[in-house]
Amino acid sequence: MIVTIDGPAGSGKSTTARGVADRLGFVYLDTGAMYRAVALAFRRGGASPSERGAAQVLPSLELGVKYVGDDMRVLLGGEDVTPHLRTAEVGALVSPVATLRPVRERMVKEQRRIGWEQEERHGGVVLDGRDTGTVVFPDADVKIYMVADLDERARRRQQEYESRGDSVPLAEVREEIKERDQRDRSRDIAPLRRADDAIAYDTTDETIEDQVQFVVDRVKAVGEEGT
Ligand code: C5P
Repeated sequence: MIVTIDGPAGSGKSTTARGVADRLGFVYLDTGAMYRAVALAFRRGGASPSERGAAQVLPSLELGVKYVGDDMRVLLGGEDVTPHLRTAEVGALVSPVATLRPVRERMVKEQRRIGWEQEERHGGVVLDGRDTGTVVFPDADVKIYMVADLDERARRRQQEYESRGDSVPLAEVREEIKERDQRDRSRDIAPLRRADDAIAYDTTDETIEDQVQFVVDRVKAVGEEGT
């Protein structure tokens, strides 16, 4: 069973995906974390987010994913870089890096490989990102497209920063996600959009439990259809 959850920043995708995976015994694959790790590699290598930068970084990029219990960790050259992925610096670089074709080709290939492997091992995978239902797994069993009001998304992201001890003004967070969404929506390759067969779900007034239940119900319905 492959479940994809796409949508703009702060719409509740990752919390929901993690919760759904937990409830169903599936594996969670955070595709954004993989793009963030590539952005970190660009940053560490002093490469610009350009085709030339990609030619510099990708040949020696050793990106890996491992699971510690339910927790997905991202490795760069064997180093667990997960704690360094959600910083403002990586946040600012990730969407320009994610527009580059060679970066996307490499990530999609890797995401499919991990997805199939984990599905076989655990019976199901929940992916979240921007193109997981349109490009990575266009034949996914359940596809969700999550949206929420920009103000609510900014508030959630600010809280997330705060929980890590980062105090960022709300207006700044709002601008950051607005700009990133704009770039993700307007890029040529794999832009952020709802797959035609994805279920649109507005989470503005929903609790995390509601969100998890919503997706779990859809997964169960598909499972029952298949039996
Ligand atoms: O989900 P997260 O906010 O960590 O994603 C960071 C960025 O990675 C997104 O803004 C987008 O530019 C890129 N991304 C992508 N395709 C995905 C997942 C993330 O382009 N499937």
